Amino acid sequence: MVKNRKVVIVGAGPGGLAAAMQLAHAGADVTVIERQDRVGGRTSTIESDGFRFDCGPTFFLYPRVLQEIFQGVGRDLMAEVPMKRLELQYRLTFGAGGQLDCSADMDAMDREIAKLSPKDVGQLRKYMRDNRDKLARFRPILESPFHSVLDLLRPAVLRAAPQLHPMRSLGRELQRYFSDPRLVIAFGFQAKYLGMSPFQCPSLFSILSHLEYEYGVFHPLGGCGRVSERMGEIATEMGVQIRLGEEVTGFQFKGRRVTAVDTDQARYPADACVINADFAAAMQRLVPDKLRRKWKDKALHRKRYSCSTYMLYLGIEGRYDLPHHNIHIARQYDQNLLDIEQRHQLSDDPSFYVQNAGVTDDSLAPAGHSTLYVLVPVSHMHPSIDWQQAAGPFRERVLDSLSQIGLHDVRDRIRIEHQLTPADWQNQHHIFRGATFNLAHNLGQMLHRRPGNRFKELDGVYLVGGGTHPGSGLPVIYESSRITSKLIQQDVLDR
Ligand SMILES: Cc1cc2nc3c(=O)[nH]c(=O)nc-3n(C[C@H](O)[C@H](O)[C@H](O)COP(=O)(O)OP(=O)(O)OC[C@H]3O[C@@H](n4cnc5c(N)ncnc54)[C@H](O)[C@@H]3O)c2cc1C
Repeated sequence: MVKNRKVVIVGAGPGGLAAAMQLAHAGADVTVIERQDRVGGRTSTIESDGFRFDCGPTFFLYPRVLQEIFQGVGRDLMAEVPMKRLELQYRLTFGAGGQLDCSADMDAMDREIAKLSPKDVGQLRKYMRDNRDKLARFRPILESPFHSVLDLLRPAVLRAAPQLHPMRSLGRELQRYFSDPRLVIAFGFQAKYLGMSPFQCPSLFSILSHLEYEYGVFHPLGGCGRVSERMGEIATEMGVQIRLGEEVTGFQFKGRRVTAVDTDQARYPADACVINADFAAAMQRLVPDKLRRKWKDKALHRKRYSCSTYMLYLGIEGRYDLPHHNIHIARQYDQNLLDIEQRHQLSDDPSFYVQNAGVTDDSLAPAGHSTLYVLVPVSHMHPSIDWQQAAGPFRERVLDSLSQIGLHDVRDRIRIEHQLTPADWQNQHHIFRGATFNLAHNLGQMLHRRPGNRFKELDGVYLVGGGTHPGSGLPVIYESSRITSKLIQQDVLDR
């Protein structure tokens, strides 16, 4: 291994931080450049007047991948960031009537399912069995890079292919198990973790709800942002330079090879460069169009993107008697999904998610107070919604909607408030179209058709994060860092 190879990482999101730890451990001289004044990107902490909110992720699923990454650098994830596994994973309420208290206890789930649909009792166990097998087949695919169409001929892919059902949506897959439409949603709404409708999302993603019930839903104490903070601290202890409040403005090229990274403050020579910034935004801002063959601006504009989210972060006086995670499904869920994905308009009666983390973790608010995090899936940026006009009225609609899950007097108890709209995701967070979950995860934009971990358009450039393979969501983002770090080790460090 050649020592002192310089790797520059653009962005200190979870993908960038995980890559920094692994590359530093492999002997590289790593610099991470982050335009914000904190690490974590979408998985960071918003702090205000003693309240701490997760900016984005609140569900920490399948810790196994990050645990292995920590072990690889001689650390223990659960000791570095203590986590609680939530017994009541979440409460689902249906505008159409009924509710489900979801837990990994299959007997308890049978009782919950019986309340909605007695004839579906027992089906969850079958679903879990089938998905256990499916996940085992798909894990090798999720854990290795896809460079070209030829990778589809690898034995692992051929073994998994019979279960891929490319034309079947997740919704259709679930209808094979559950007759009650509310149960189809209960095990399919997880497609929203990818920013997609379960009825558009490939059936492969039935593994998402399986992961929750099989491996649990975790709350890292201090929030998911705490995981990023600790990763930043560990990377620093390992010798990584993390430069906060510094923005990458472009690259120096020799032909197609990147030789240095330019920021608003300095130039950093680089043997390899890792882009963790939002893929579509970073390409357009940082890489001249003429240097890109496949991912030109025009092509990026034609791609499909995930939905966005409207966010309220509320510091509340007192505490609500509600579970940690609460998901409310709109009465006309199909219309709500059409509004988000096709009509690009705001629903009168939207689905929403509320995190009431104070019931699990009292480190997030001053004494006698708690936090509410409200997420409403909405269309990504589209000319039909002007957020400057829409934000105020939509806030009122969302606060009114909260009464459907028993939150009646929220307005009177708000002590601090932050709002984030798709326009803010786009303009403040530099996320293309404010599509918070990156390029959509339809089969045409996955595997070898997603931007590769080794970015073939340019030499010495690699990608990590939700914009590359395997996709969006923390476990697979951490996986992307593992794939990318191994490629850099082969291509650059071991040479
Ligand atoms: C509202 C919301 C809820 C989510 N909920 C969950 C959940 O519950 N569970 C889950 O697993 N996943 C969830 N996700 C998805 C995903 O896990 C996170 O979005 C994750 O943070 C994405 O990680 P990333 O590594 O791709 O990059 P990001 O977190 O986007 O980080 C990229 C970093 O690059 C920086 N950057 C950009 N441009 C530059 C530049 N020019 N120079 C320097 N730095 C730059 C950015 O500031 C940012 O810090 C959620 C996402 C959102 C938005």
